Amino acid sequence: MTKKIYYVKPSIGSRELQLAAEACEHGWGDHSNKYISTFESVFSEKIGSEFAIATSSCTGALELGLAALDIGPGDEVILAESNWVATLAPIIHLGATPVFVDILEDSWCLDPSRVRERISGKTKAIIATHIYGNLAEMNDLMSIAYEFNLHLIEDSAEAIGSYYHGKHAGTIGTFGVFSFHGSKTITTGEGGMLVTNDASLDERVRQLNNHGRSRNEIRQFVPAEIGYKFKMSNMQAAVGIAQTERFDELVSRKREILATYRDALSDIPHIRLNIQQPGCESGAWMPNAVFSQESKVTRELLLRRFKEQDIDARVFFWPLSSLGLSKNSNNPSSVANSVASRSINLPSYHDMEGSDQAKVNEILRNMVS
Ligand SMILES: *Cc1c(COP(=O)(O)O)cnc(C)c1O
Repeated sequence: MTKKIYYVKPSIGSRELQLAAEACEHGWGDHSNKYISTFESVFSEKIGSEFAIATSSCTGALELGLAALDIGPGDEVILAESNWVATLAPIIHLGATPVFVDILEDSWCLDPSRVRERISGKTKAIIATHIYGNLAEMNDLMSIAYEFNLHLIEDSAEAIGSYYHGKHAGTIGTFGVFSFHGSKTITTGEGGMLVTNDASLDERVRQLNNHGRSRNEIRQFVPAEIGYKFKMSNMQAAVGIAQTERFDELVSRKREILATYRDALSDIPHIRLNIQQPGCESGAWMPNAVFSQESKVTRELLLRRFKEQDIDARVFFWPLSSLGLSKNSNNPSSVANSVASRSINLPSYHDMEGSDQAKVNEILRNMVS
């Protein structure tokens, strides 16, 4: 009988269990914020941001941040075609207009020259997603943001352990958001974090996330505005503290898995994995194999082969404009369409065995022989 190979699976140790039980038993009354504020401080310290606000999801964190910047109807927000819908939904919920921009062939992140072409008088922000742990071209994007007075926001859900010239992803732009969904490098089951170095933005996000109640309001139950309630619970935060203590271990295992794939497949010119960018260190959240056009290997073919061997197959993100969720039209000759049509994400969970990786490698190798 073959053993199923999962593409992700969290690594939960005894410390996670211990802290979660502790929070469940004692995290009430005077301690009802204890694990949340500890998680916020250990996480922000680890990645080097001034402020951090724990949330119920990364999607919620992104909506809070965009709302705090007063982005709404009439505003345009630029984002990459290749993205999870979580990056798009908050823009739509706030009534703003998404503008999809094609990706670079090598990093699969926003193409800065195309970003420049799509800036209009209505553009308010650029959301750079550091996809699969690869880093967006932050220097170029920062100078565009500066030139046109735009906010640069970093969707770092997939970029735990990714550093751009020494700075952790998410700490460079106006704000960054992280996800602790069960599929991510650090998990709390569900959860997210907004990080920023801007004290007034931190204050505004906290108010919005507390049903619009100001910290200075002394009366009970009197919000200053209609806000949100995207909070994380103490019990989830307790798991987050234990996971953050293992930050380096969890990230180095991700890097090790990617490096093992890279070594094993390096002699096959038709397969390209996540890029190694000069001056950057990738957190290697999700290894992705792109086959060359000449190889004629397609996503559909890859899905079939993986399924036959009981290996979880996960496709590269569909270009958002191809999903019919917004008014944007899809350009079939975009890099985003092309890369997606000949890619497959590779299993990369913490406890996977060398023999599992070897099995995946053999399938990939057989595709081109
Ligand atoms: C996982 C992910 C999200 C959403 O995270 P949630 O915590 O599920 O809301 C957003 N953006 C990207 C790029 C992701 O990979």
